[in-house]
Amino acid sequence: MRILLSNDDGYFAPGLAALAEALSALGEITVVAPERDRSGASNSLTLDRPLTVHKAHNGFFYVNGTPTDCVHMAVTGILDFEPDVVVSGINSGSNMGDDTLYSGTVAAATEGYLLGIPSVAVSLVGKEFTHYRSAARVAADIVGRLARAPFGAPVLLNVNVPDVPYETISGIEVTKLGRRHKAQPVIPGKNPRGETVYWVGPAGAAREAGPGTDFNALERGAVSVTPLQVDLTHGNQIPLVSKWIAD
Ligand code: MN
Repeated sequence: MRILLSNDDGYFAPGLAALAEALSALGEITVVAPERDRSGASNSLTLDRPLTVHKAHNGFFYVNGTPTDCVHMAVTGILDFEPDVVVSGINSGSNMGDDTLYSGTVAAATEGYLLGIPSVAVSLVGKEFTHYRSAARVAADIVGRLARAPFGAPVLLNVNVPDVPYETISGIEVTKLGRRHKAQPVIPGKNPRGETVYWVGPAGAAREAGPGTDFNALERGAVSVTPLQVDLTHGNQIPLVSKWIAD
């Protein structure tokens, strides 16, 4: 099995190293990741300048672009084979509910999916980021399953793992995305020139977090696996908008 790894935290990130170590038992690993932290990059492609790829001492390739650039370049240009699976992560922090729209971790996996490859995004949920090995083992469980029992349809899985020892994970649940409250306000400050600058504030707290959601699974110490799709069409509103436009 040939496995392409990427992330959005950068090629030096501990979560990526843990993922590469765990998945190397399942096949041949190639890592193509951003040269710096590109968390929040979403599905952006770099179109205004050329991109370079370099090889680090540990064999990982790094690109001066986004997570999406990395997977796009790897699959359409750098690799002389098509990977059997793309795995992105392990992100330092959750990607649940609305996070998935902003996430570079999910975006790297989405790019694999758009290019026709089964893809998995893996995120570690917590604050301390102690147990990357738990998330790496969960990733290996899922990739091993994909190898043994191919899914049979295009698949993009968003996986969130609690930051606890593997043995204490309470289960694995297939979920839908929850929803967050509106994001908290930007945080103003002053730069040394006296100009007002702003930091983007934290995401909102979970709002829709009932049974069956990713937030709910994590709250109970379980792994959440959400199958994602890309079509943003709000199908239920097509008749409403048609009527509104025609009136
Ligand atoms: Mn990140």
